[in-house]
Amino acid sequence: MAEVLVYVDHVDGAVRKPTLELLTLARRIGEPVAVALGNGAADTVAALAEHGAVKVLTDDASEYADYLVVPKVDALQAAVEAVSPAAVLVPSSAEGKEIAARLALRIGSGLITDAVDIEAGAEGPVATQSVFAASYTTKSQVTKGVPVITVKPNSAAVEAAPAAGAAEALSVTFSDKATGTKVTGRTPRESTGRPELTEAAIVVSGGRGVNGADNFALIEALADSLGAAVGASRAAVDAGWYPHTNQVGQTGKSVSPQLYIANGISGAIQHRAGMQTSKTIVAVNKDPEAPIFDLVDYGVVGDLFEVVPQLTEEVKTR
Ligand code: FAD
Repeated sequence: MAEVLVYVDHVDGAVRKPTLELLTLARRIGEPVAVALGNGAADTVAALAEHGAVKVLTDDASEYADYLVVPKVDALQAAVEAVSPAAVLVPSSAEGKEIAARLALRIGSGLITDAVDIEAGAEGPVATQSVFAASYTTKSQVTKGVPVITVKPNSAAVEAAPAAGAAEALSVTFSDKATGTKVTGRTPRESTGRPELTEAAIVVSGGRGVNGADNFALIEALADSLGAAVGASRAAVDAGWYPHTNQVGQTGKSVSPQLYIANGISGAIQHRAGMQTSKTIVAVNKDPEAPIFDLVDYGVVGDLFEVVPQLTEEVKTR
């Protein structure tokens, strides 16, 4: 069976959920071989084996630190040369997409970004994408080289599938470009304790209807009762009510949670572009004609200042 390389997104050995989702998809098209780089790479092996990795190529060189992407591209190129895989799967994070694009250029391959599904095809993996603000679903295949595919978080279930997970050292020769950049400073963001927006199973968002920065406390309270991330429409972000890092949509982040709750958001096409692939969509809006209601699974026509606190209290009793 053909091997499929999976780039491992991890923090000091703790594997992040989007990588485990990639293993589910990789198993559909071949045997997953994971590539774990940087500090704690060896500590990823057990989790990757539990989710189907037959082999884990590791390298903990210091060059991978500080989120520099070129050393990681060097390593993936070495892994492609060592394994000759049927495809390379990378999580669709900002870093993942940069790594994937550079890798595809290096190895002369085609690239598919932001896939939401992958299946086996007669001539290689077939990727599904949601395009033009989720107006169309397309299926595409790479026709040149080893397909490099980035996959949006929450596109597949995490499945236990014990496999050998044999660890093997990856031998990497770093290119001149790998040492051509250095990080000169870093300002960590204060942690909210909430899940990362693009990986969260539940997202609770607020829009212009929230009517002020202080009122976002209502949205945060509902989010916290559900263990959810907080999102915002561009109108709310442009008004300075919530940070741009939380913006959902065409010029913000793209999310695909199990549950998306839109509060005081009209449902403009640019907002839909970032949330339309959510599995279940709920909206609270006082205007029964708001376009968001064309999209929802459950809609509440009402004033969010009445509905959201009631919903929060109800969730807390469960
Ligand atoms: P509005 O459209 O003003 O809707 C507010 C809604 O709140 C209304 O439906 C209203 O009925 C409801 N409401 C008001 N008060 C209450 C209440 N008390 N209770 C319940 N409901 C209430 N937008 C994004 O979100 N993300 C993007 O990434 C993005 N990118 C863009 C890129 C481009 C190039 C352009 C041109 C636009 C982009 N936009 C984006 C903006 C987008 O077109 C909309 O302007 C924006 O999404 C509107 O935000 P909103 O729904 O919060 O506000």
